[in-house]
Amino acid sequence: MSNFDAVIIGGGVNGMGAAALLAKRGRRVLLLEANEKCGGAIRTEEVTLPGFRHDLFATNLSLFAGGPIMASLKDDLIKYGLEFVPSTKPFCSVFPDGKALGVIQDFSATEANIARIAPEDLEAWRALSAELGVLAPHILPILGNELPSLKAAKALFKSWRALGTSEFLSMIRLLLQSTRAFTSEHFKARETRALAASWGMHLDYGPDIAGGALFAFLESIGGQMFGMVLGKGGADVITKALTGVIKEYGGEIRTSSRVTSIISENGKATGVTLADGQVINAKEIIANINPSLIPTLLGEKERSRAEVLEVTKFQPGLTTMMIHLAMDKLPQWSAKEAREYNYVHIGPYLDDMALTYAEAAAGKLPTSPTLVVGQPTLTDPSRAPEGKHVLWVQVRVLPQGIDWASEGERYADRIIEIIESYAPGTKASILARKVMTPADLESYNANLIGGDSLGGSHHISQFFFLRPTPAWSRHRTPVKNLWICGSGTWPGGGVGGGSGALVASALGAK
Ligand SMILES: Cc1cc2nc3c(=O)[nH]c(=O)nc-3n(C[C@H](O)[C@H](O)[C@H](O)COP(=O)(O)OP(=O)(O)OC[C@H]3O[C@@H](n4cnc5c(N)ncnc54)[C@H](O)[C@@H]3O)c2cc1C
Repeated sequence: MSNFDAVIIGGGVNGMGAAALLAKRGRRVLLLEANEKCGGAIRTEEVTLPGFRHDLFATNLSLFAGGPIMASLKDDLIKYGLEFVPSTKPFCSVFPDGKALGVIQDFSATEANIARIAPEDLEAWRALSAELGVLAPHILPILGNELPSLKAAKALFKSWRALGTSEFLSMIRLLLQSTRAFTSEHFKARETRALAASWGMHLDYGPDIAGGALFAFLESIGGQMFGMVLGKGGADVITKALTGVIKEYGGEIRTSSRVTSIISENGKATGVTLADGQVINAKEIIANINPSLIPTLLGEKERSRAEVLEVTKFQPGLTTMMIHLAMDKLPQWSAKEAREYNYVHIGPYLDDMALTYAEAAAGKLPTSPTLVVGQPTLTDPSRAPEGKHVLWVQVRVLPQGIDWASEGERYADRIIEIIESYAPGTKASILARKVMTPADLESYNANLIGGDSLGGSHHISQFFFLRPTPAWSRHRTPVKNLWICGSGTWPGGGVGGGSGALVASALGAK
C-alpha cells in the first residue's frame, strides 16, 4: 500500500513546481531534499558579511516569471510572498575601448544605443525585433510542449501553415545556427555581435557551436520587450513561496533527506530508500535529478538494462565559477552607462568568446574568461545595508577536471583584475568576497556535475526531443512509474520550471 501518490526526489525549482501543482490537484505528495533547505540552484545567503544577501546561483528570474508554474499558481505564490523587482536596463556589454552597448526595455531607447555605437546595424536590429514578433508565437509552443509529442507536431504543422514553407524553414534554420553564424548574418559591428553572442555563453554555446542562436535571439532582442526580473530580497523568494504553496495544499517536505536508492519491482518503481535506511513507498516517483546520476540509485537488475544505461551517455557541459562580493560602492565602469545595467557582459568580442570556449573545452583555464557581472542592488537595494551593494560575478565557461582547491582563489584574483581594468577602483571597493569554484557548486548540488551550472550540456545532440537521451525523452524513463524533471530534461536549464510542469501535467495536474 503506497503512502503517497508521488514522492519527489530533489527540491529544485522543477521538483518543487511539480509538487505544488500536484498538491493543488489533491495528490498526496512528499518532497525529499538532500540539503538542509530546498531550492537547489536557487539559494540566497549572507555568505560575505551580515546584511549582504547574495544569490549564490541563479539571480535572473525572468524565465520563472514567464513560465508555466507562475501561470498556474500566480495567486498562490503571491500569497506566500513571491515578489519580483523589474530591471528595465537588463544587460549591456562593455568593451576595452571604453564603449558599452546595452539593451533597454524600450525599443526606441535600445535603438538609440545601437544608433550611437553601431549605426550600421540599426536596420538589422529593427528587422530582428519585428522578426521576434512574428516568430515568438511559433517558437514558444515548441518550448512549452512535451517533445516529441502529437501536440508539438500539431503546433509545428500550424506554424508551417501560418508562416509558409520558406519562413518555416528559416525558423528551423535559426534553431540550428551558431551564434557566430546568426550574428554575422545580421550584424556588421563587432559590438552588436558580442552583445547577442554573450547570451550563447550563458548556456554552453561558444560562438561556433550549432544551436546557440535561438537563446541569443530570444534574450537579446526579447530584452527590449520584457526587461529582466529579480526576486525581491533574493531569488529564494521563489523557494519560499513554493514551500508555502506545497504545504497549504497538504504536501509534505522533508529536508536533510537524501535518497540513496529507488526501489523497483518487476521493472516498476515503487518507492525510495533514504540515507538513514527509511523506506517510503509511492505510486509514482519523480526524480528532480541529473539523469546521468539515476542509474546509481537503481538496483543492479534495473541498472544493467541497456536502455537504462543509455542515459550514462548524457554529457555534462563546461563549468562555472561564482564570485560574490560585498561592495562599498558599485564598479565605476569606464563606460559610464554600464553603471545602470543589471548585467554587464565582458566577452569582450565574439572571437574572444570563441577562444575562451575552445580553451575550456580543451581543458585549459581560459586566458580571457567570459564574465557576467550582476549588479542586483541597482534594482533591489534591500539586498545590502543602506548605501552598500552586492556584486554577482559569474565566470562562464571553465573546463571540467581542474584542481580547484589549488587554482580557485588565484583564478578569482585574475577575474577581479579583469573587472578592475574595465572599472578602475573596483578592487578598493570590495569589503569581502566569497569564491565558489565549480567544485563548490557540485558540493552544494550533486546535479551540477563537475560544476556544470546547467545540469547537462545543451548541445543539440542532447536538446529538444533528444534531452537527455532518446530512450529517456518525454520525462519518462525505462523504469515504469519513474519520471524525471529538472534541467537535464526538456526544456533544459534555467528557473522556468517547465519540466516540473510537464511531469505534473502528465500525472494529471495542469
Ligand atoms: C551559478 C548558477 C547561476 C545560474 N543563473 C541562472 C539565472 O540567473 N537564471 C536562470 O534562469 N537560471 C540560472 N541558472 C540555472 C538554474 O538555476 C537551474 O537550471 C535550475 O535552478 C535547476 O533546477 P532543477 O529543477 O533542475 O533542480 P536543481 O537546482 O538541480 O535542484 C535539485 C535538488 O535536488 C537535490 N538532490 C539531488 N540529489 C538528491 C538525492 N539523491 N536526494 C534528495 N535530494 C537530492 C539537490 O540537493 C537539489 O537541491 C544558474 C545556475 C547556476 C548553478
